[in-house]
Amino acid sequence: MKIEKDRVVSFHYSVAETGKDALESSKEGGQPLVILFGRGQIIPGLEKAMEGHEAGATFKAAVTAGEAYGERKDGLTQRIPKKHFGAQKLEPGMQVVLQTNFGPRAVTVEKVGMSVVDVDLNHPMAGKDLEFDIEIVEVREASEEELAHGHVHGEGGHHH
Ligand code: ZN
Repeated sequence: MKIEKDRVVSFHYSVAETGKDALESSKEGGQPLVILFGRGQIIPGLEKAMEGHEAGATFKAAVTAGEAYGERKDGLTQRIPKKHFGAQKLEPGMQVVLQTNFGPRAVTVEKVGMSVVDVDLNHPMAGKDLEFDIEIVEVREASEEELAHGHVHGEGGHHH
């Protein structure tokens, strides 16, 4: 069965900045990522690269920044009280996850002061061309309920 819109796709991936070591891999956790395909649950460049493949396929996909997490934007530096970072030791260049009103958000530490910290709110992978290694594990039809909810149920998906 080929990957197309509204099918459920399980896949392993690892992602690296082009020409560098892998940044993260689904194989570390052991479980593949499970998505309802064609609904914007993964970055657009990866959806394009995966479309039409079948279970068992392994391939590389090069995705430019514009089709991944977008270009870096200037002026996204924000000064935040140090107490929001808890007890962790902060260093410039470090990535930390902040709890915001919009949920958890990965930011990059730019400068650490006595009581405040400057962080860059760009997505850590913004502005980066990425290279994915993909292994398609399973492709199946989505149930009517999954289509109505817009997400996958069962293993790797939502449990109600
Ligand atoms: Zn549901």
